[in-house]
Amino acid sequence: MTQDNRILISGAGPVGSITGYYLAKHGVPVSVFDTAPLTPRDHRASTVHPTTLQMLASIGITEKIIPQGIISPIFQFRDRFDDRVVAEFDYGILSDIFDFPFALQVEQHKVINTTHEIAKEYDTFELRRPCEVIGHVQDEDGVTLKVKNQEGEIEDHRGLFLLGTDGGRSVTRKDAGIDFPGFTWPDRFVIATTEYDFGTQKGGKHHYRNYVAHPVQWCALIKVAGDDMAGLWRILLPAMDDDPSGLEIGSSEWVQKKFVECLPYEDEYKIIDINPYNVHQRVAETFHKGRVLLAGDAAHVNNPLGGMGMNGGIHDGVNLAEKLLHIWREDKSANELLAQYDRQRRPTALKYVQAQSIANKELLQETDMQQRRQRLDVLAATAEDRDRCRGYLKKSSLWTMLEEAKNIT
Ligand SMILES: Cc1cc2nc3c(=O)[nH]c(=O)nc-3n(C[C@H](O)[C@H](O)[C@H](O)COP(=O)(O)OP(=O)(O)OC[C@H]3O[C@@H](n4cnc5c(N)ncnc54)[C@H](O)[C@@H]3O)c2cc1C
Repeated sequence: MTQDNRILISGAGPVGSITGYYLAKHGVPVSVFDTAPLTPRDHRASTVHPTTLQMLASIGITEKIIPQGIISPIFQFRDRFDDRVVAEFDYGILSDIFDFPFALQVEQHKVINTTHEIAKEYDTFELRRPCEVIGHVQDEDGVTLKVKNQEGEIEDHRGLFLLGTDGGRSVTRKDAGIDFPGFTWPDRFVIATTEYDFGTQKGGKHHYRNYVAHPVQWCALIKVAGDDMAGLWRILLPAMDDDPSGLEIGSSEWVQKKFVECLPYEDEYKIIDINPYNVHQRVAETFHKGRVLLAGDAAHVNNPLGGMGMNGGIHDGVNLAEKLLHIWREDKSANELLAQYDRQRRPTALKYVQAQSIANKELLQETDMQQRRQRLDVLAATAEDRDRCRGYLKKSSLWTMLEEAKNIT
């Protein structure tokens, strides 16, 4: 059994890894457990907002991930009907508040692996994998975590607190009996990747992050660096179960057809890979139950339009790590501070991440032509007006959410 003054973390995704590293760097012993033998490379987060870059700079991660990604100061909303740029937002307008006035397009697995690389220099950081967390029991003094190790043996690990960062299907959340209310969208998302360059004149002169509105052929188009930094484009396509094409959703024929419909710059694209996803909007009923805390996707899930899931999760993790540090070092009242974590992060997750990601999806897929015109006009006017543009960027980069949380005691 491990020592009982550790912080136990279930899940070494971006949120568990960064939170664990933050604590370890400040002298708190942590054990992080993950079922996966290696960091998964599936297509998930690719946009790191300026707020998160600022946060990660203070623990030495930003300087290491910038060279692995693409600096992306501008993002666009476009109308698929006439391929018009409806609105363009430039983070440069916020260079008075952001040290990094751009988003970084960098793959999630690079963020995680970079964090592990830095964290392993601290003997307070322990990563155990493959190790499946199967349950926990909490008592007055701590938590006992049950994990299945690589040999299939059940081990007990003892710690002061358990942080559940084990993703949307979190065993920690379920085992703690915490509800996860919300809904699942009827359409699935399919992500496909190509080397085709949408930044060229022929490819539509796209920026590195683009949202294309259309009642049926809406999509998001994002450029990432790829392993060799040569650049790859990811398209996110919506898929309904009753797709009229009759093709199997997610099959290469279906992706090719949708790809060309949504981005008609070529008759055919060379597709490198395809990943289908179900999309949920859910927020846990609490982020804190005794000695068990939730952060990241274990606490809230949302659609990826706007790139807020991982960013919001990292913001949870840093907020929580600061509080756990006070509790661990100064023996501050745990309940008081951890309840504040829930008050600061849960209502704001509903108000900002959930509301904004739902609004983004509704905007792109609007079918009522009058509503559609109005929504796109409002967006265009927002981009044109300096104050409204600043407000929009502060909100969509989660700066407003962080500022509001600071004032919640
Ligand atoms: C297509 C797509 C695009 C996205 N784009 C963006 C974006 O641009 N920006 C953004 O901010 N967000 C984005 N997101 C969301 C982002 O990927 C998630 O919010 C992020 O992965 C959450 O991180 P996490 O660490 O909380 O959970 P996860 O990344 O899900 O990590 C959970 C970890 O826990 C482990 N685990 C699970 N169960 C157990 C167990 N029982 N025992 C031990 N370990 C366990 C898993 O192996 C995994 O490593 C996107 C998501 C998708 C699907």
